[in-house]
Amino acid sequence: MSFTMHGVAVSGGIAIGFAHLVSHATLEVPHYVLPKELMADEIVRFDNAVLATRQEMESMRAHIPANAPPEVEAFLDVHMMILNDSSLSKVPRQLIESLQCNAEWALTQQLDNLLDQFDEIEDAYLRERQNDVIQVVERILKELLGHPGIPASAATPEETSILVAHDLSPADMILFKRHQFAAFVTDVGGATSHTAILARSLNIPSVVALHHARQLIREHELLIVDGEQGVVIVNPDQHVLAEYRIKQNQWEIDQQKLKRLASAPTRTLDGTPVELHANIELLQDLPLVRDNGARGIGLFRSEFLFMNRPDLPDEEEQFQAYRAVAEGLNGLPVTIRTLDLGADKQLTQMEHGQSANPALGLRAIRLCLAEPHLFHTQIRAILRASHYGKVHMLVPMLSALSELEQTLHHVKAAKLSLDAENIPYDKGIKIGGMIEIPAAALMVQSFAKKLDFLSIGTNDLIQYTLAIDRTDDAVAHLYDPLHPAVLQLVAHTIRTANRLGTPVAVCGEMGGDPKLTRLLLGFGLREFSMHPAHLLAVKQQVLKANLPELHTLVSKILKAEEPDKVRSLLAKLNSI
Ligand code: PEP
Ligand code: MG
Repeated sequence: MSFTMHGVAVSGGIAIGFAHLVSHATLEVPHYVLPKELMADEIVRFDNAVLATRQEMESMRAHIPANAPPEVEAFLDVHMMILNDSSLSKVPRQLIESLQCNAEWALTQQLDNLLDQFDEIEDAYLRERQNDVIQVVERILKELLGHPGIPASAATPEETSILVAHDLSPADMILFKRHQFAAFVTDVGGATSHTAILARSLNIPSVVALHHARQLIREHELLIVDGEQGVVIVNPDQHVLAEYRIKQNQWEIDQQKLKRLASAPTRTLDGTPVELHANIELLQDLPLVRDNGARGIGLFRSEFLFMNRPDLPDEEEQFQAYRAVAEGLNGLPVTIRTLDLGADKQLTQMEHGQSANPALGLRAIRLCLAEPHLFHTQIRAILRASHYGKVHMLVPMLSALSELEQTLHHVKAAKLSLDAENIPYDKGIKIGGMIEIPAAALMVQSFAKKLDFLSIGTNDLIQYTLAIDRTDDAVAHLYDPLHPAVLQLVAHTIRTANRLGTPVAVCGEMGGDPKLTRLLLGFGLREFSMHPAHLLAVKQQVLKANLPELHTLVSKILKAEEPDKVRSLLAKLNSI
């Protein structure tokens, strides 16, 4: 049966391929009591699931790509040790027998027992391993429930597989970056959740917030994913398939045309130069940065170095990673953002208790100031890397001047410690702050005076201005970059920074949306940072824009009180 699903568009293009279902997070587990005669079979079923999980892990370990960080292997080793421990491989068998229950139920009861014991553990390192235990249990559960993880060699070549998931964490997405899927769709998530941002960085069509995709789509069904319109068509008929093949070709032709712009200088029609920079999460993103002609890195989300590993990277490891990016850019600027952990980017290695509202909790700079050792280590690593390229440091989630003052104090202390050891660094390193909380946007003047540059994080600015969780699909339709309040804050920040002569960029997803390029230029923005895959489409808009022509409509947009009015004026602005 053919049917169509609508979600939130994340990353453009059209993919046609076969569904590959993956599960994640706490799975729904069936509970039932077994008759005595089926007990032996149930234990065999459990043993087989453990065996299959072990084989899957071994196969993953055997297929680690040569360029993968060394931690991936260590991470798999820890999981293998946990799997082989009798508390997971043997005790559930006894529970099946003593409680006469199904294997899934026995396993989750044993997980609860283990987690209770973890709470008692004094040793912080061991206590932190509980997330690993949960992940291993989830793997076994997936086997039991007939939901295998991603096989190392799927029956369908990966480039024609479409990943269908209920939800995935940003950490999972990092692992999926190593697979070549044709497209990616999920039930939950918002367009600017970090999972979606990473999906975008895979540079494949993606749609989120489909609600029941994982339930309604079956393994190996044929799908069309239209990442531009946020549409997924399941089992399309020949007619629809032919139509989308034409659209797919057209999209590819347009992409090829855009590639010709990569080396052209970025200037508006009236000759105003504009800087287009790239956002990256990992070192592996660098080739894309170069191919798309980015003139620097406006946002290196350093927290992704900390994910999918059992330990935290030390100063030397961080230094090597930052230095590699700095050197890779050959003198072009590299803006390294200090850790923005918390909210939807949680670490397994750190424990700060579960916050009821993690996006409003101990996140980003708040977490760094609460963990001075962690912060000091990162600042030293960034400073050391600054000797090998043009490195800037960017501080996320500032809401009060006192946070900035404390941060500058930490930077000073890190510099002094390097001086004492005669370790070189760029003494004039520029320190910038992200404007992504309305409080910071409203008092941007004070921040601009104390910082070398500003970068507007529109993803969080929208979330906090409109009180809409950027990861929550239930309110994804309310997440609106064109809400007049958001536009006022963005325009105010740009105008104030320009008046004070403090360089300002937009590095949130608004910066990479070609439909908003003219508007932001009209606000006075001259520096954009975005995922490299969007860079040439934005550049095309810059090249076609004539700034003096934009003023009238841009000031009308800023006076509009309704998002719909903004939308119609924006359509006019884009058609000048
Ligand atoms: C933002 O909030 O706009 C931003 C660029 O940071 P992140 O998406 O990593 O929160
Ligand atoms: Mg942010």
